Amino acid sequence: MELLKVKNIKKVYHPRLSQHPVEALKNIEFTVDAGEYIAVMGESGSGKSTLLNILATLDKPSTGTILLKQQELSTIAEGKMAQFRREHLGFVFQDFNLLDTFNVQDNILLPLVLSRVPLKEMIQRLEPLANQLSISSLLKQFPYEISGGQKQRVAVARALITDPDIVLADEPTGALDSKSAQQLLQLFDQINDKGQTILLVTHSVLAASHAKRVLFIKDGKIFHQLYRGEREQLTFMDEIAQTVSVLLKEEV
Ligand code: ADP
Ligand code: MG
Repeated sequence: MELLKVKNIKKVYHPRLSQHPVEALKNIEFTVDAGEYIAVMGESGSGKSTLLNILATLDKPSTGTILLKQQELSTIAEGKMAQFRREHLGFVFQDFNLLDTFNVQDNILLPLVLSRVPLKEMIQRLEPLANQLSISSLLKQFPYEISGGQKQRVAVARALITDPDIVLADEPTGALDSKSAQQLLQLFDQINDKGQTILLVTHSVLAASHAKRVLFIKDGKIFHQLYRGEREQLTFMDEIAQTVSVLLKEEV
């Protein structure tokens, strides 16, 4: 089933202190089926965060349309946007975005509190999720009392607790040490195996190699894609690395 359709997206920034507009995205087009795990891979400045923020409805494209379950995002009223995000999208960012004045449990439950879900149901959803993410013992602690890897697992719990149509992640391993990064990527594998659709943007070959399909973005354009197929993750990682190095060579 087609979950997300991105049609002809362009994004032009008009920097405040420059006369020259920046074309961050040019004619981006792709679709995501339910259950897919897609990585958008590109160098710094290639337009990854711009794309993710637009898919996340945190920013708007200059032209083009995005449909989530056939609903065009631009038709959602401004006043309904926050609710739409809570009901359909889950976010994981590089810097966790947890609230320091809330404990771990309240950070995770926040989207449900905002949607007025009854407490009993919140706890019923929280328990198995906390278990799966190995954060059950941390629920009463505050974000500043736990490690980066733990914080990111809390952020994943917050993203998953609303049972979103798609999880959107921007460099989710970017601020993690290599062991925590590996753990997080394994976690993403597990949640995708259970059917969760994931789209992540990253410059990391390792992170991209966990996805089932990789879209390569350069100068705001998607110019190539690779399907993992039946390949092992390490084999796929080699292939992604080769693709990246061929592209870099083309630049010289
Ligand atoms: P990435 O996440 O791949 O590093 P970005 O999407 O952040 O790339 O940026 C893509 C391009 O758009 C870059 O040239 C960047 O400088 C520019 N850009 C991003 N955000 C803004 C903004 N708010 N105003 C002006 N230019 C921006
Ligand atoms: Mg970025």
